[in-house]
Amino acid sequence: MKQSIYGLTFEQLTDWIMEHGEKKFRAKQVWDWLYQKRVTDFSQMKNVNESLINLLESHFTLGTLTEEIKQESQDGTIKFLFKLADGNVIETVLMRFNYGLSVCVTTQVGCNIGCSFCASGILSKSRDLTSGEIVEQIMQVQHHLDNQGKDERVSHIVVMGIGEPFDNYDNLMDFLRVVNDQKGLSIGARHITVSTSGIAPKMYDFADEGIQVNLALSIHAPNNDLRSKIMKINKAYPLEKLMPAIDYYLEKTNRRITFEYILLKDVNDHKEEAEQLANLLKDKRHLSYVNLIPYNPVADHPYDRSEKEAILTFYQTLMDRGIKCGVRTEHGTDIDAACGQLRSKQIEKEKARKKKKLQNS
Ligand code: SAH
Ligand code: SF4
Repeated sequence: MKQSIYGLTFEQLTDWIMEHGEKKFRAKQVWDWLYQKRVTDFSQMKNVNESLINLLESHFTLGTLTEEIKQESQDGTIKFLFKLADGNVIETVLMRFNYGLSVCVTTQVGCNIGCSFCASGILSKSRDLTSGEIVEQIMQVQHHLDNQGKDERVSHIVVMGIGEPFDNYDNLMDFLRVVNDQKGLSIGARHITVSTSGIAPKMYDFADEGIQVNLALSIHAPNNDLRSKIMKINKAYPLEKLMPAIDYYLEKTNRRITFEYILLKDVNDHKEEAEQLANLLKDKRHLSYVNLIPYNPVADHPYDRSEKEAILTFYQTLMDRGIKCGVRTEHGTDIDAACGQLRSKQIEKEKARKKKKLQNS
């Protein structure tokens, strides 16, 4: 099967072109057509010699994703459901903020981490996405914007869709290099955030990359007992392994970490947990920001959203202890834009359809 050309970093494309007997400067031309002019067919690469176009055409595709569903919410959020070449479906979300347009990308088909509150965790991972499939999500959204003709561009990326990015580390890194490349999409590293459930060894690697991309850690509980209950990854990487990894990252990069904390009613939203969290972070509060996330209830999951009062008390307790924090505003709740919800609904529908078909046959 042909490989997606979007999976190659500029260096990889240059090497490939030179290995195939073409001049180095051609890589820059091709890159420009892909990411600046954003063509949808190799033949549109006007200043590229025919032999190279033929060569590219025979080895690569300009897209393996096909749009299945596009839902626009009243607040401008757009949810895309894409079909991959192997028939799997993934979701990508475009959100509008006053500071720009942000895209939430998926990194795996399903997720093996299995957090008990997450819709993505229900369906275990069937495979990693390739770097090309991750880049293509951005390209699909950018092409959609280009077609609208309003001269809008994707300015921010959050790697917070389905999947654990650090469980697909090499493809994640290639993806980051492609979208960040200044000759191409040039999405600033400071405008990109990668969220992890806390795969500690990879946090050391990420700190060593020397890249300015932001890191978010899904902490969700301030002690091992509770954290292991809602996130089974905590058994492999409990807080005594996670905190040194965080310290290493902070020391190495001097960059702020965002701690994500989903508020689950009567589970982790008591004042006591806010105090424990403040204690856990107190020696690094100058480089910490806690993002309090109102839970998006998922069908068949035992959790509810915290009461407003509990959210405010939690927030105030952290603030009183000098921990900077905020409550995440929601986007596209009318279109299931949260974390794997549209995809899991779609899969349920598909299952029901197949079952019905079976009964009728
Ligand atoms: N696997 C990574 C990134 C994807 S999940 C991680 O866990 O960090 C991105 C964020 O969405 C995580 O903080 C996750 O805990 C949160 N999330 C998952 N399901 C949610 C739900 N139903 N409501 C609100 N946030 C959710
Ligand atoms: Fe996977 Fe993140 Fe969902 Fe946990 S919250 S199951 S790590 S996608």
